[in-house]
Amino acid sequence: MAQEAETKPDLPEAGFEALRTNGVKVNYFFICQRKLWLYSKNLTMESGSDQVTLGRLLHDRAYRYLPKREIMVDNMIRIDSLEGSVIHEVKYSRKMEDAHRWQILYYLYYLKQLGIDGLEGEINYPKLRRKEEVTLDNEAEAKIPQILREIKQIENLPEPPEASFSRMCKKCSYAELCWG
Ligand code: SF4
Repeated sequence: MAQEAETKPDLPEAGFEALRTNGVKVNYFFICQRKLWLYSKNLTMESGSDQVTLGRLLHDRAYRYLPKREIMVDNMIRIDSLEGSVIHEVKYSRKMEDAHRWQILYYLYYLKQLGIDGLEGEINYPKLRRKEEVTLDNEAEAKIPQILREIKQIENLPEPPEASFSRMCKKCSYAELCWG
């Protein structure tokens, strides 16, 4: 799990309706809490990032033949594609595998809250010709509400968590903001 935020305000127990969020935030939670905070404040700098542009290109080309692509649910989560009972998430590299896994686990969890059960997940790395199957087990299902609570707490911080250098910083679109 991502590092602890320094001072998290108390958050009352809240249900899924109050805590639900988008998949990018769940992904960023496992990469860097500062990144999550900056993104949650709409400080997006991704358009200039080569890595993000590469990801988008790959994304557009990799699964163009699948029938159901870019499925927006509740204007909240965007599923890359649905093939039968498998939801796909397309990624550029495996460097942030844990974040990718939790993102798709969250999608499976989200859909289950809507009553859509029995789906499986698959992370596709077309450039590496690899795929990773993901199943929402009891352990992940129990952990996701706590992750959502922590995301909300980080978003509610008055200031961003301190920058802490990691290997993720090298390709991060906020690197100039943090270290420039
Ligand atoms: S540059 Fe590093 S510290 Fe800054 S937001 Fe990105 S990952 Fe976090």
